[in-house]
Amino acid sequence: EADGAAAAEAKPLTPEEEALRRNTDCVYFLASPLTCKKGNQCDFRHSEGARMNPRDCYYWLNGNCLNPKCSFRHPVILIFLYFPSLFTIRPLVISASNWHQ
Ligand SMILES: [Zn+2]
Ligand SMILES: [Zn+2]
Repeated sequence: EADGAAAAEAKPLTPEEEALRRNTDCVYFLASPLTCKKGNQCDFRHSEGARMNPRDCYYWLNGNCLNPKCSFRHPVILIFLYFPSLFTIRPLVISASNWHQ
């Protein structure tokens, strides 16, 4: 059975982690709004503004943008570095090329 998924679900996120995840761009939505099947149920951010905007959010990269309507990108890599536990839920393929400095 899906023991990996069950183990991940046994450990709930803290409200802080939850908020950060909700403000991280959904990589599926960024590819195309139709690619993410979860729609409003998605755990990650769906921002049409950010989808059209290739620039990363400066504040997000510094760990202090929690504006769900922010129209700059909130790449998932940041949350991965700060909260690696989030990625036990669903591993994502991340391109860090434009963030790595
Ligand atoms: Zn999504
Ligand atoms: Zn932002």
